[in-house]
Amino acid sequence: MALLDSNEWQDLSGKLAAASTSVQVQELRAEWIGRRGRITLALKALSNLSPEERRQQGQVLNAAREQATRLIDERLEQLRQQEEDRQLLNERLDMTIAGVEPKVGLLHPLTRVRRLLEDLFLRMGFSLAYGPEIETTWYNFEALNIPENHPARDMQDTFFVDLPGMVLRTHTSPVQIRGMEAAAGSLPVKIIAPGRVFRRDDDATHAPMFHQIEGLVVDRGITLGDLKGTLVAMATELLGASIGTRFRPSYFPFTEPSVEMDVTCAACGGTGCRTCKGTGWVEILGSGLVHPVVLQNGGYDPQEVSGFAFGLGIERLAMRIFGLDDLRPLYQNDLEYLMAFDRYTGRPML
Ligand SMILES: [Zn+2]
Repeated sequence: MALLDSNEWQDLSGKLAAASTSVQVQELRAEWIGRRGRITLALKALSNLSPEERRQQGQVLNAAREQATRLIDERLEQLRQQEEDRQLLNERLDMTIAGVEPKVGLLHPLTRVRRLLEDLFLRMGFSLAYGPEIETTWYNFEALNIPENHPARDMQDTFFVDLPGMVLRTHTSPVQIRGMEAAAGSLPVKIIAPGRVFRRDDDATHAPMFHQIEGLVVDRGITLGDLKGTLVAMATELLGASIGTRFRPSYFPFTEPSVEMDVTCAACGGTGCRTCKGTGWVEILGSGLVHPVVLQNGGYDPQEVSGFAFGLGIERLAMRIFGLDDLRPLYQNDLEYLMAFDRYTGRPML
């Protein structure tokens, strides 16, 4: 029985060399040494032979099976190695390719200005205080010496809510009363109260919701000089050492006397232009000495203590710091617009 002559070996090694996948090699294994493989069947057929022939052919066939097994295993290992090399090549990290820059967020410009103010006043020894945005008319008006017939209570300005005696607060000043109540007669009271306020206003420089920061100091012997020193220090730090400031008499129901603070116009530097209506000054906040009625409503005796208070619009200050002439885009969540503030480097921002 002539089995596995040199032609057949060439056939097997040629097919193995041509096999490019392990599946193809496994097919060859089945064809040659599988349960119904050529060599396997030949070995089974040995039982028909004489003992002498069986011994001879048996040796040859067993050697052939070993050799075929070795050739097949070698080819499988070769293919596995090739596959691994290919993978390593494909998955190689190219350190020269430019990376994908991660998107990094930044704080909203109004948040940055609020934090700038908070940081400044906390360093001056103030502490933070907060009040509700839906407020009673007592805290929003009466306690602040704003009588029933005052224009601030007009439907034009105030958002009334569907609850008796409640409004959306029109300013952060109610926190003056709440702050004095919380201090419960102790001295000094020295708070700032940042927060949202609401008025029926909507144009390029007014939004129906905007932010204020309220300041209140109550102690023995507080004068307009303390007010002026505090606010000039604030303006100098926020707007630069060369900023000019002036205080003008004004009127607010909850302060007496009342003063408005002006700073030199950013557009003309104080020489006079259209922005400042030729005066060289722009108003940035209202302030004054706390009205005796307000001190009383907060639980303090105006014969013993005095105080000053101020309130400024965070939007207005942000417009000044960032040089904006319209505040509305600040609320429109246009990412491109807001991200442009990233390039603002004129001042260390928190
Ligand atoms: Zn000007």
